[in-house]
Amino acid sequence: MASLDRSSVWQRVSAGCLGVQDTVNVHVPIADILGIPIHRVSRQQLLQLLQERKEAGLTTWLITANAELIVRADDNPSLAQTLRKADLLVADGSGVVWAGRVLGSYLPERLPGVEIAEELIKWAADEGLSVYFFGAEPGVAEAAVKQLCSKYPGLPVAGYHHGYFAESEGREIVREIEQLKPDILLVALGAPRQELWIEQHISFLDVSIAIGVGGSFDIWAGRVKRAPGWMGDWGLEWLYRLATQPRRAKRMLALPQFVYRVIKARFTSR
Ligand code: UDP
Repeated sequence: MASLDRSSVWQRVSAGCLGVQDTVNVHVPIADILGIPIHRVSRQQLLQLLQERKEAGLTTWLITANAELIVRADDNPSLAQTLRKADLLVADGSGVVWAGRVLGSYLPERLPGVEIAEELIKWAADEGLSVYFFGAEPGVAEAAVKQLCSKYPGLPVAGYHHGYFAESEGREIVREIEQLKPDILLVALGAPRQELWIEQHISFLDVSIAIGVGGSFDIWAGRVKRAPGWMGDWGLEWLYRLATQPRRAKRMLALPQFVYRVIKARFTSR
């Protein structure tokens, strides 16, 4: 992780040591996007917070929320409640950054889950932190680990397991993670299943950071390509995904819903 200005964040984290586990939620400004609190942090600030929280011995559950997840939560109060329990929620895509602008709460930049997870992996390789990879189809986590280990030599891999399991196997996976105590736990079960899984297990897994990473393992394993950077910058990553994975079409109906609901919220909140 890049070298960071530590002073201001350290005060917040120190307060966390005094037992205020939610200090980050109190001190980082938030954008309310359809009832979901999105932390208004840049990439640098996010990485700094994660680092400082780890050093302070706090567990951080991080969600990178995209428009689709926020629409789902808007339709499902129980899911919204789950998301609000995370320690940090950030804007995964340009749709959420746009919503912040429309609703008068500036969000500095998009922080896609796959990029944030890779930042964590770089950090892990640099600092000797262990990482557990949980999710995706059989063979994919392993292929992703292989790629990442050749890109970041020395990456300490605590373990990996695919995400297609029966209930009894699921208990075994939890036991394994419990015993291995990885510093960083990447959960790639797709949203919102990964968030529900983390909610259910985070209280007794001894990890520093847990994050749902959606299809990131498929990308690292070379099974799925990301949209070119310029498409992401123009807010067109969804179009690329639609063209390359047409089975996602139904899920993408959430995007116009998101735009409609944000504009409606803008005019009803005046
Ligand atoms: N997945 C899984 N178990 C399941 C369902 C899905 O491990 O029961 C994995 C799936 O193989 C894929 C990821 O979850 O690797 C979801 O990827 P998707 O691209 O849908 O996630 P997004 O990035 O859109 O959240």
